[in-house]
Amino acid sequence: MSGLKKLHAPLAWVDGRWQRDVLLSVDASGHWSEITINLPAPADAERLNGPVIPSLVNAHSHAFQRAFVGLAERREAGQDDFWGWRDRMYALALRISPQQLHAVASQLYTEMLRGGYTQVCEFHYLHHPAQGQEFDDELDMAWALATAAEDVGIGLTLLPVVYTRSGFGADSLRADQHRFAADADWAWRAHQRVMAAGLPRVNAGVALHSLRGAAPQDITRLQSLVGAADLPIHIHVAEQTLEVADCLKATGMRPLQWLAEAGHLDPRWQLVHATHADPADIEAVARSGAGIVICPGTEANLGDGLCDLPGWLQAGVPLTVGSDSQVTRGWVEELRWLEYGQRLALRQRNVAAAPGSQPSSAARLFDAAVAGGARAAGFSAWGLTPGARADALVLNRDADALRGLPDEALLDAVVFGSNGSPWQSVWVAGRARPWRAPQRVGDAFEAAMRELWSPDSTPGS
Ligand code: ZN
Repeated sequence: MSGLKKLHAPLAWVDGRWQRDVLLSVDASGHWSEITINLPAPADAERLNGPVIPSLVNAHSHAFQRAFVGLAERREAGQDDFWGWRDRMYALALRISPQQLHAVASQLYTEMLRGGYTQVCEFHYLHHPAQGQEFDDELDMAWALATAAEDVGIGLTLLPVVYTRSGFGADSLRADQHRFAADADWAWRAHQRVMAAGLPRVNAGVALHSLRGAAPQDITRLQSLVGAADLPIHIHVAEQTLEVADCLKATGMRPLQWLAEAGHLDPRWQLVHATHADPADIEAVARSGAGIVICPGTEANLGDGLCDLPGWLQAGVPLTVGSDSQVTRGWVEELRWLEYGQRLALRQRNVAAAPGSQPSSAARLFDAAVAGGARAAGFSAWGLTPGARADALVLNRDADALRGLPDEALLDAVVFGSNGSPWQSVWVAGRARPWRAPQRVGDAFEAAMRELWSPDSTPGS
């Protein structure tokens, strides 16, 4: 079957390797209908003048935290850690309005496109107004994200988050967490409404904030509502050693062990961070089929710790990356950080590589992220493969990092040699997307930042 639109690339990353003379056909719905290798460009094909690689899914994002980037990088006294950062982050979470969130997310999503992501999973827990009455529509904050994604042209997987308690042993949220309140029924209703809205390039899964933020009965209730539906279920887990210690104290088990032993995990589950996992945790997750979402930039910024990357890879657990707090907004930096953290800790090189099957660390991590990202977003296909949305990145061989390199080194140089953007265009659903924020997007973002951070600003409603 020939598609409505044909793109031809001199080189493309198909099924984990470079292929030459690749014809990429796009159907009327903006998905790849056919990928043909070793075929000279037909007369009716648009020629792409650089190597083509899949874009990635950003599997973990809190859009509002873009408005906090650069504002938490000072230590005035004592020690600084995740919990101190979180208290300051709440100052933002408690004041941002739907209009401000739209402005911040529009800027952020443009930056993500530029960073090579064409789909973002929003772990969304800012459900309610900053103060006072309910919104006219209880999903006003979610719609702010969806319209920002639509305006910018990035795909969105909205994950309404269940958040019911402030910690292990608590039976409710703290006063400063009232915006987050959502039980399983609320989150499921949100999921259903987002799906029913039928917005282009928008789908939905569900999420639980964490084992400290959702009680066992909330998890059971959510699972009964979801039933056998094929959708992603995300949860923050084992990001902090204190969280592991609290879970041990409350349940006698580590968080990943608890989730596995309770029988919750299956391939739909996406375990965000999973930083503090021991070999038994990894084995339990591997048996369940669940995937993990590592956020190397944020985990470094927050001083969370390093995951056991060799352990996860060895166990064959699906893994991908996310930008989380938005201190990084491109996947090149995430993959580089992921590998470099391991090199620094282990005093070895090419930790992610698999000699014999995939000697390139960059290629092993990239292929893992292509496959893991698809699962995190609830897609059965992703990348340069028939049935996947026609998303792609066209590399720029004149980029500093790629100039003069043999084909087989291109992906290595994208991840480990970048100086500036290594690609020239970003495609979503068969169309090249502008990746510079239009002036109005930048202006609205700056206006929102002024409102949010001026000393006399009042919380939005
Ligand atoms: Zn997060």
